[in-house]
Amino acid sequence: MDTRTYDIEGFHDELVAYGLIVPTGIKGAYGRGPVFEDILRRFDALVVREAAPDNAQELTFPPIVARRMIEELGYLDNFPQLAGSIHSFMGDDRQARQLSERVQAGQRWEDLLAPTDVMLTPAACYPVYPTFSGLLPDSGRLVTVMNWVFRHEPSDEPTRLQHFRMREYIRVGSPQEVQAWRDAWLERGLDLLRRLKLPVQSDLASDPFFGRAGRMMAASQVDQRLKFEILCPVISREKPTAICSFNWHQEHFTSTFGIRQRDGALAHTACLGFGLERVTLALIKTHGFDPADWPAQVRELLWP
Ligand code: ATP
Ligand code: ZN
Ligand code: MG
Repeated sequence: MDTRTYDIEGFHDELVAYGLIVPTGIKGAYGRGPVFEDILRRFDALVVREAAPDNAQELTFPPIVARRMIEELGYLDNFPQLAGSIHSFMGDDRQARQLSERVQAGQRWEDLLAPTDVMLTPAACYPVYPTFSGLLPDSGRLVTVMNWVFRHEPSDEPTRLQHFRMREYIRVGSPQEVQAWRDAWLERGLDLLRRLKLPVQSDLASDPFFGRAGRMMAASQVDQRLKFEILCPVISREKPTAICSFNWHQEHFTSTFGIRQRDGALAHTACLGFGLERVTLALIKTHGFDPADWPAQVRELLWP
């Protein structure tokens, strides 16, 4: 029986009082204190250790992607409400004076900016797919990335952030290889999180596709069992928080980037992502605000 109380504002205030997170005045954007950051990095390192036998290739990307890639991936068709676009000033002297005058006068000035070639990365795996272009080696490829991602979903829930980090693994190969890999990782993920004594369970899930057409896409995603999440109560018992997601994209990315198996057939991709801030918050909610008091079994895994 879960006898804990769930009070979103109370949890937020305790996180601040313990110096775990630092408010910035922006919804869903916190500074992190040293203890929070230590837990997060240790969990990330634990995942990497657990996955080491798989020999994933580690790639690192900046937290921006080409505007063109966001278009190609259909992000603006599916999730326009979450997108983050970067704009800058590209005008002449006269317009620059106008800009500064408007700011000084407390008037709106954003229409004097223009879109740049880049947008904020919405999922850590996106920059990886174009690197698979062409013919794949026999058993496909496996890549891991850790990156900051942006989603425009301002919220007072400490678990729903606008900018957060994901540790992702991305598998490309034959449909059978990719599906088996995704299924095996769902069990591995559950096992890892249960060894950290988190009260997790898995469930079928769907992405937050936009609008009325989006509801149909979400239903079809569930029908086809394309997305699973691992859930843990953090701010609510009834609505546990997704701390890890497993996505089978079938040919969504491989058709866009021409990613083929040796026999010429389109490959499939799948990815899994641990939401690092959310796992950290789940550990804090479950085991307490001071890691020194956490169960020995959990400490041994994170402080080996
Ligand atoms: P949710 O169902 O909570 O909206 P999602 O299904 O949009 O999450 P994914 O797109 O699958 O999440 O992202 C992968 C992981 O990133 C999630 O399992 C979660 O741990 C984390 N995550 C997603 N959105 C947020 C957010 N706004 N703040 C913090 N972590 C997030
Ligand atoms: Zn992904
Ligand atoms: Mg979800």
